[in-house]
Amino acid sequence: MSKLNTAALQAMDAAHYLHPFTDHKDLGARGTRIIERAEGVYLWDSEGNKVLDGMAGLWCVNIGYGRTELAEAAYKQMLKLPYYNSFFQCTNPPAIELAKAIAEVAPEHMNHVFFTGSGSESNDTVLRMVRRYWDLKGKPGKKTIISRVNGYHGSTVAGASLGGMSVMHEQGDLPIPGIVHIPQPYWYGEGGDMSPDEFGIWAAQQLEAKIQELGIDQVGAFIAEPIQGAGGVIIPPDTYWPEIKRILAKYDILLVIDEVICGFGRTGQWFASQHYDLKPDLMPIAKGMTSGYLPMGGVIVSDRVVETMVEHGGEFYHGYTYSGHPASAAVGLENLRIMRDEKIVEYVREEAAPYLQEKIAGLAEHRLVGEVRGVGLLGAIELVKDKATRERFPDKGTVGTLCRDLCVANGLVMRAVGDTMIMSPPLVISRSEIDELVDKAWKVLDQVA
Ligand code: PLP
Repeated sequence: MSKLNTAALQAMDAAHYLHPFTDHKDLGARGTRIIERAEGVYLWDSEGNKVLDGMAGLWCVNIGYGRTELAEAAYKQMLKLPYYNSFFQCTNPPAIELAKAIAEVAPEHMNHVFFTGSGSESNDTVLRMVRRYWDLKGKPGKKTIISRVNGYHGSTVAGASLGGMSVMHEQGDLPIPGIVHIPQPYWYGEGGDMSPDEFGIWAAQQLEAKIQELGIDQVGAFIAEPIQGAGGVIIPPDTYWPEIKRILAKYDILLVIDEVICGFGRTGQWFASQHYDLKPDLMPIAKGMTSGYLPMGGVIVSDRVVETMVEHGGEFYHGYTYSGHPASAAVGLENLRIMRDEKIVEYVREEAAPYLQEKIAGLAEHRLVGEVRGVGLLGAIELVKDKATRERFPDKGTVGTLCRDLCVANGLVMRAVGDTMIMSPPLVISRSEIDELVDKAWKVLDQVA
């Protein structure tokens, strides 16, 4: 594509396209980057620049770009049956097979899937399922869902309310009633004088304190990402999840583990719930489910919840036109086949993740880096003004944004959350591509320093 076309497309974009999560004045000043094609772990923009995608799109292109099998699966399914609904006693073969395939890799006590079109829709579904479940259990008071500050659960009204992003809450009077937030387990930023282990216990105990404050008969569920992604790849201290499990065992509350980012191999297990040995009642999923080739989401539902909903619930008045979409399901099925046949989860666990983690750990030596953390193929680099005191840079986000832009200039996509640089590359990234990613990250840090 020529530069002239880029300019024309940018003008058209500015004239007509409202982008998600975008300041359009800023976008206009900086110019839109038009991504034109991709292969493996690389993107090419409309100017012909090649960029290593250290974010797998938006944490979703798990098997990498350019897999013709997924395109063929969509094409064949669209020719055969592009669409039919799953309402009113109907279903379709790929959706049935995908539900079975997901149940096979999900934790043992989870054998059913409710399909949606996105992660946000999955969390809307969660909210309705939790409340429905407790109604059916004869405990309609248990409506409140406890979530966490700086968590991310999507952008719809329920998703943004369940999430703990204050900037989202400020726009549109959120959260909706019945959703409350407790502190996040962010030791580096908020642990103060506590050791990571002490802080993990403290952060988990905020759940117990909140349950006691609200009353056990008011609380229906606790929702959390196993590792907070959009919040800055926040990895809870080792003591956190065991303590949460202890608390949940004591109170009659559902556990919702949002696997939208961590699901489908990112931590080196099919689901992070397996990595942390959690027993969720509901698991919202999306993204890696189709490696982002077509939109799709879902909620994996435990036998306990299914039993109540199916045996005692009658019709659940909830669903989306695109629930169980045949073409998305065909792509999801083919994506899972490739992940299984090519042993991609094993590759992450045994090769790619240990190598990435070893390599990024070295970045901690850089004078701008306060902490490096990661699990599986997730990583974060916290940039600070002073390593010893953890003093931050003034004007939060300025250095992060500069780093992000320099990354692109150096042929690498990493995202900035404030002054934390985060990565989540395709699961198929090779050793030499990991070397390239880390070398480029070093170079950028040197340019900023
Ligand atoms: N849940 C988590 C943990 C996410 O990271 C996201 C998106 O990034 C969502 C839910 C929302 O998914 P979607 O953007 O597909 O609606």
